[in-house]
Amino acid sequence: MDHLIEVKNLKKYFSTPRGELHAVDNVTLNIERGKTIGIVGESGCGKSTLGKTLMRLHDATSGEVLYNGTDIAGMPIKEFKKNYRSNIQMIFQDPYASLDPRMNVLQLVEEPIRVNHKEFSKTEVTKKAQEMMELVGLAARLESSYPHELDGGRRQRIGIARALSLDPDFIVCDEPVSALDVSIQAQILNLLQDLQEERGLTFMFITHDMSVVKHISDDIAVMYLGQVIEKCPAKEIFKNTIHPYSQALLSAIPIPNVHISKQRMVLKGELTSPIDPKKCCRFAERCPYAEDKCRAEEPVLRELKPGHAAACHYAEKFIPQGTP
Ligand code: SF4
Repeated sequence: MDHLIEVKNLKKYFSTPRGELHAVDNVTLNIERGKTIGIVGESGCGKSTLGKTLMRLHDATSGEVLYNGTDIAGMPIKEFKKNYRSNIQMIFQDPYASLDPRMNVLQLVEEPIRVNHKEFSKTEVTKKAQEMMELVGLAARLESSYPHELDGGRRQRIGIARALSLDPDFIVCDEPVSALDVSIQAQILNLLQDLQEERGLTFMFITHDMSVVKHISDDIAVMYLGQVIEKCPAKEIFKNTIHPYSQALLSAIPIPNVHISKQRMVLKGELTSPIDPKKCCRFAERCPYAEDKCRAEEPVLRELKPGHAAACHYAEKFIPQGTP
């Protein structure tokens, strides 16, 4: 397989007065060139920290992030910014918060081009920005509009145009549609898919919404308290979920049909603290199937079927019957 990104044993810990917060803890995953990996999990599971660590917005505590075979997590930040910043870009959740309200649309799209291409003349910067606006479906008449005059969908298109303006091949999309109305969400998801096809982009798509991830992902990694607890092709997780936590996440997806009833798996119990966590299954306090071993030993992420891995001591019990 042709992996653009390989993440190996990545850790990002934060020091707090109470101890070390294990925001990302020993994450290993690969992202195939031109494909999308969906990173899912509830708030606080470490998915955004993972994306920001890949982008070098956080420095990794340890581990590797290979981009085209080169470790970008371990290199000096100056070298990363000079040689790799334009290849790896991010689309943020709240475009309004990430846009300077004093700049108009054209200036906002021009900004990253001007900063990263000092060799470009003013005319070349403007031409490139106008091309990016057209690419993401922002009409030329909006050039002089300000972010507060636009709806959420158009503001997110500015964020996408800014990310694309440096011609990256890998983009971390951090909850890019969760602040948008449902009808606009579909437009932005379709735009991202079209851009991926046209430009061969590779995406890491971070979300807490399983129905969104179903629409866009080729592969899925489910995170729980800083760790990947299940990963597999996207279709596989929706048919043959193994880990009890993934089962609970999927059971929460509403079905738009009043004639179909669905049993929701409601999680009870306290969330384990991510500060200096014990060596045990971090889901044990909420798992309906927990046994003594779960509270005494940390399960490892292991392949149970080709391409399908889960971190659970009793995973074999949860493989749906009759699956190949
Ligand atoms: Fe549940 Fe135990 Fe599996 Fe953890 S290891 S998910 S507690 S059964």
